[in-house]
Amino acid sequence: MLPSRIGGQPLRMAASRPRVGHRPSSLTFSPARRPNTGGSRSVSSSSSSSANPSGTAKVKIPPRLPGMAEDDHDVEKYLRENHQRLFENNKKWAADRLQQDPEFFTRLAAGQSPEYLWVGCSDSRIPAEQITGLEAGEAFVHRNIANMVISTDLNVMSVINYAVNHLKVKHIVVCGHYGCGGVKAAMTPKDMGLLNPWLRNIRDVYRIYEKELDSIADEHQRYNRLVELNVIEQCRNIVKTADVQHSFETNRFPIIHGWVFNFEDGSIKDLKVDMKQMLGGIQKIYNLTD
Ligand SMILES: [Zn+2]
Repeated sequence: MLPSRIGGQPLRMAASRPRVGHRPSSLTFSPARRPNTGGSRSVSSSSSSSANPSGTAKVKIPPRLPGMAEDDHDVEKYLRENHQRLFENNKKWAADRLQQDPEFFTRLAAGQSPEYLWVGCSDSRIPAEQITGLEAGEAFVHRNIANMVISTDLNVMSVINYAVNHLKVKHIVVCGHYGCGGVKAAMTPKDMGLLNPWLRNIRDVYRIYEKELDSIADEHQRYNRLVELNVIEQCRNIVKTADVQHSFETNRFPIIHGWVFNFEDGSIKDLKVDMKQMLGGIQKIYNLTD
């Protein structure tokens, strides 16, 4: 059982820091302008109803979503129309791409040869291509909660295998982010149900760096540091794979990079992971090239 405190510091943190929490994208909704009234409401309707001889039927109205007009109660219609904008965006994007580069889709259809494998967090605020300026075809992307690389996760292991052995990627980027909800949850001593085994891997990172983390008095700084250390440990997990070790021995690539994205200014911090040093450090126990 996890103690409620580690090293005298409370584990639960950032609850009062809305900037690190998940919230609706401001690109989509503006709750400040369009308040959500919340809760289901019932209104009287004058429509005739055999179930109600008085002529006033109770109609249950779902809560209005953020973004819906004050007098709009049709949630399904709103969602359909809101969803439709994705297809409209797609048409515009395809037309723009074609105008800028008539061969763009011919190249995409011909196959992929990305230089990068991106392992990022599923958090909706970190679109790999947008924050790095990469184009379609330049990054093979895998995302999960807290950008984890777990050796028993067939999904991420298959992605690494394919990216390294077939796509021959030259770089593998693990990109975490400050304010990561997954890392925050792992720092919270609470039963998270189905998420427990996943979060356990982040709790294990805390255990490995317990001394360093507990020496950081400020909760927010400690949280940020765990985000960074988690990225470094996931880089190490990639270096532990046979695929990466074999490829690096033969080709001198892929190179592993550990980055952290910062919501506050949009910047990426390079943790300057030293691939060779990391490989040397694990080979005594994890060498799989013999
Ligand atoms: Zn995250």
